Formats: sequence, C-alpha cells, structure tokens
Amino acid sequence: MNSDSDFTFDYPVDATGETEAGNKRPRTEGNPDSRRSPIEQERVAQRKQPPQTSPPSTSAPTTPRVILPLPKQSNGTMALASARYDSGDFDGLPTAVGENPHKQFTRQGEPPVAPTNLAQLGIPDMQFPHAHVPTYRLLGNVDEEQIVRVRKIENPKVAIVIHGAGQDLIGASDLLIEKITKLLSDLEFPPLEGQQMSVDSAGAPATTLPSDPIRIYKALVRKPKRSNAFGQPWTWFADLGQNSERLRKWLLYQEVFPIAPTLSFSVHPLGDLIQPWTLMVLTGRDRHAVEDTPRARQEVAKEIKDYVWKDRDFTVSTAHQVELNWGLHDDPATLLKLVTDTIEVVCVTAELKTSRKEVPAYLVYVKPVTNDREEYLEWASKFVQAGAYWRGPCRLEVNKATVECKLCKDTSHCARECPLNVEGWKGTAVEDIYTTQELEARAAGTSTDAGELAGREWQQAKARRADQDPRPQKNAKKVQQTRRPKEGKGKGGDQRRR
Ligand SMILES: [Zn+2]
Repeated sequence: MNSDSDFTFDYPVDATGETEAGNKRPRTEGNPDSRRSPIEQERVAQRKQPPQTSPPSTSAPTTPRVILPLPKQSNGTMALASARYDSGDFDGLPTAVGENPHKQFTRQGEPPVAPTNLAQLGIPDMQFPHAHVPTYRLLGNVDEEQIVRVRKIENPKVAIVIHGAGQDLIGASDLLIEKITKLLSDLEFPPLEGQQMSVDSAGAPATTLPSDPIRIYKALVRKPKRSNAFGQPWTWFADLGQNSERLRKWLLYQEVFPIAPTLSFSVHPLGDLIQPWTLMVLTGRDRHAVEDTPRARQEVAKEIKDYVWKDRDFTVSTAHQVELNWGLHDDPATLLKLVTDTIEVVCVTAELKTSRKEVPAYLVYVKPVTNDREEYLEWASKFVQAGAYWRGPCRLEVNKATVECKLCKDTSHCARECPLNVEGWKGTAVEDIYTTQELEARAAGTSTDAGELAGREWQQAKARRADQDPRPQKNAKKVQQTRRPKEGKGKGGDQRRR
C-alpha cells in the first residue's frame, strides 16, 4: 500500500471530466513489455524505462510551477517543439501503447499460488481484459470518515466492484455480499510447502485459510446523487482477515469473477496512487466532426500537439515533470515531444453529460507525466481548454461527454463495448442492466418495446428512471412531469448527435 494519504475521493470533473483511470497497471509492473511490439520495446529501451512508479508524494503536491530549474537559457531563446518538430509526422507513433493500462489483461506478473477448487466454485481459470480503476475512483463519493476507517484495517484488504453496481445497488446488496463472502471463504489453497501455518491440523490437505472471517463492507454514500443509478460509490471493501496475504495476492491476480449474471465482480487493489491515461473526450456537434478513420484520428492528435507545443510555460513544466518522474534528460521541447508522442486518439461511444445521449467521440490517451494528484490535474488542465481543438471546419468540444463503463467502471469504453463480455462470459452483461432498467421503466409505464429499440431505449429508460427516483419520497406529481411519451425520439434521424 503506498501512500494512503494521497487518495483523492472525488470524481474530478474538472480536468479530466469523468474519464478517470489510472496510468499504471498496479500489479504487473514486472512485464508490461510482454505486450509491446518490437518497435515499441526498442523505443522504450532506447529512452530508458519511464516511471513505473513515479515518486508518489515525496514532494509537496502544491509546488508552484514558477521555480522550475529547467531552462538554462532564457525563456526567450528556448526552442519550442513547434519550431523543431513536425507535428504531422506520425512515424512510429503513438509510443508506449503497451504501457496503457486500459489495454492490458488480468493475470499479469508472476502467478501466485492459486486455489485448488476454482472449477468447483465456478471461477473461470482464464485471463480477462483488465478493468483499470484507480483507487481515487474506487473511493469516489464514499463517506470520508469511512475511508479513514477502511484505511485503518490492518489485515490484507481489497476493493470489490460489482459489475453494473452503483448507488442503486447499495440498498439491495445484502444477499450479494453474503454470496461473495462465501465464495471468497470457500477458496482453498494448497498447504504451504515445508512450513506449517498456525493451523490446527498440520496434515490437513487444503484449508480455507485465515483464522479470521472475511468481512465485506458496503460503501457509505457521501453525497447521494439520484441522477445516476450507476453513480459512485460502487465499491465494497473486503477485509480478508489475518494471514490472508496469499488470498489477497491471488484475488488481485485473478481480478475478474464472472460466476453468474447475478454474481459478477472485479477485485482491485486499494492504495495505488495512479493517474489516468484517459485525458479527455472530444465530441462535435457537426456530424462530420468525429470520424473513425486513421487519418481523422491523426488530425486530432496533430491538433493537440500543435496546441500544446507552442506554449513555452507548458513546455518547461512538462519537461520538468519528465525529468523528475521519467528520469529522462534532454532539452524541454524534446521532452515535451516524448510526452505527446504517447498521445493516442481512438474512437469510442460516449454519453453526453447533459442528455445522456450516446454520441461518437474521440477518446484521447496520453501517458501521465506525474502521479501526483495536484500536479497531474494542473498539467492536464492545459489540454482541456474549451475551444482549443478543431477538425477541419468542425469545432471539437472538450469533455462534454463521458466514457465510462457501467459494468466494470473502466473509463475507456461504455458498457455496450465492455471487453469483459468475451466469448462464453458468464457474468453480468449489458443486457442484464438493460433488462432491469427496462423492467422498471415498464413498471412506470414509460416504455414498452423491449427488443427492437435495444440499446437506444436503454439509455432512454435509464434517464427516465433516474428522473423518477425522487418520486417515492416526494409527491406523485413528479411522475407526470417525467412521463413524456416518445421523449428523445423523433428528433431527426441522427440520434447519435444532438
Ligand atoms: Zn467495461
């Protein structure tokens, strides 16, 4: 557990919108190389290994950026990247793709001792796409005092994220907690070689380990938000009991537990201080703004580089971070270029913050220059200035839409595109959420056609349902207001845009 004190608890809506994710795969530090292309490996080798763990919080988070020692010549003579490099040259770019935690898989690193009864418990003995959920997101909207108390748990502990969870689930989760507690308690590990743990019967084959029972705690909501059934907190905290380090290691290694549609969750570490790779979400009102072609994506990446490369202060502060945290030394313009070389623009489906309508969007990844929360936010804020980017004659809007998976809580895809839904997936899928939503909408008399409207209607149902949440507490008139038949339909053929 490093640096517990540096958790941030909120969903920072500012710099990164809601696209929060970590920058480092926490427990696979050993071998992100395994997935790199040869070119990438060579490149990385050339420029030394950037920070697997940048010094988390040795320096005070609020270092003003004025006192930077970097430029030896005066600012006036420092070359800018825009003068030195061609932003339209994408040869060999983006770099560091293999380090991007959103593209990794579970079961990284040295395999820990595994339980012997996976099949009996219905736990798939396989690898899954890794859902990247940094600790500060796990703790988002969790009661602050509870966070303090959770930190004080000395036993090995992990965070559990139920697939498709949210504030709605909290009230109705006792049975689920019971099931998960039982599942974790039923895991049997082989006896330790040579040594004997403080177990009563040394010769016993496999024991369910700890002497202590496993305890799972629901998150207490800091601030109820009725507008989002899937909103934070969606984390539970598991105290695995004494002597449970082996269990903790394996749970984190396995990470994904799709037992059944109603029993499906991921396990995440608590305490990693990591910053997102998902920098921002760009959308456009014009139908031609977002196009999923390599050329269009490069145009966007070039636009971003052109924007930040010409900023002298930003060049200096970025170079400072790179020297400090990536351990690289060069002139500021070159160091900035090394950072922007990691920019990767991908096309995804995002959800407009205002209407929740699904829209095509560019999701921009960049390797973070620091893991310090404050410094990162300040650095990232340079990128997210409204009006900074265009694609051709189309203006791109910054962080007007979000990308977040309602199932696994990763911030690089939406639920419908969740990569967890692999062939033979037994856990909760988007259809399960959809069904629930649809049923409730139906109960409220707002929606009927389940099949053909599929996902689109799911969004509608969700929005309606959210509106209705306050109803039971308030008077019935609220219902009338929210019942607008055909709402959101018939607004033109292109439903993907406003
Ligand atoms: Zn997902």
